Amino acid sequence: MNYRHAFHAGNFADVLKHLVLTRVLVHLQGKATAFRAIDTHAGLGFYDLTGDEAGRTGEWFEGWGRLDEPFTEEVEALLVPYRGAVAAVRARHGATIYPGSPALIREFLRPGDQGVFVELHPLDAEILRGRYNQDSRTKVLHLDGWTALNAMIPPPERRGVVLIDPPYEELGEIDRLAAALVKAVTKWPTGTYVAWYPIKDVALVDRMVADLHRELDRPALRLDLMVSEPDPTRLNGNGLIVINPPWRLADEANLFLPALAERLARRDYGAFRCVAFGAEA
Ligand code: SAM
Repeated sequence: MNYRHAFHAGNFADVLKHLVLTRVLVHLQGKATAFRAIDTHAGLGFYDLTGDEAGRTGEWFEGWGRLDEPFTEEVEALLVPYRGAVAAVRARHGATIYPGSPALIREFLRPGDQGVFVELHPLDAEILRGRYNQDSRTKVLHLDGWTALNAMIPPPERRGVVLIDPPYEELGEIDRLAAALVKAVTKWPTGTYVAWYPIKDVALVDRMVADLHRELDRPALRLDLMVSEPDPTRLNGNGLIVINPPWRLADEANLFLPALAERLARRDYGAFRCVAFGAEA
């Protein structure tokens, strides 16, 4: 386990993932009944952008660092919860902090909602525990996220979201993602799943989506964002599979994806894709 998210916090991939996560959490808050957010690959919770790791790569300058200027009014309206959660985490932990998924999730939990953060790296899990095990709404588990996912669904609340955000250190992890999603949806067909993938070789993503389309009997979205032309040797894009998306998410994505593609493009190339697949809702 060599991957350390501190080097990548706040980069273009975090922006897409965290914006979509906050949109899903906002929609979950639309009903009074409690929900659960399960984060299978949680990381440290939050990161200091002035820290050594973030400073060494400077990746956040091409991500969160490009969001200072406002977008159009309708895109900004969709970013309000994301920007608000970042501000709330900064008020709590410091002005140079960028939240990871656990810190973001925590900002959306109401009394009765639950956040479960799973992390396998022993040191990260220890830090995460120190940060989140005091809050009765959040729980940290030092476990393998894939195994834990299977054991934790369906949750008692029967409403909620699972974020799957693996490091993709091993070859074939994208196929593992598809298999895990199919298995999870069989166990908990009505949960919302948000699963992140890197885009280097687009054909690999196309194949995964085709597999999911064949196997899933639930509605799903493929949300891709490229910040440079696809290149099998470089991380020039990323995407999310959202299974059982909130019904307005596709319309929202068609507003924020073009705005992000334009703003986060590395040179002159920015592209996006929002494709619905799987079964009808
Ligand atoms: N979700 C986080 C966020 O958005 O802030 C970032 C997570 S980072 C991309 C992936 C994390 O997964 C790393 O912290 C890594 O230590 C952890 N990890 C790697 N393999 C794991 C596994 N099998 N189970 C759980 N966590 C794992």
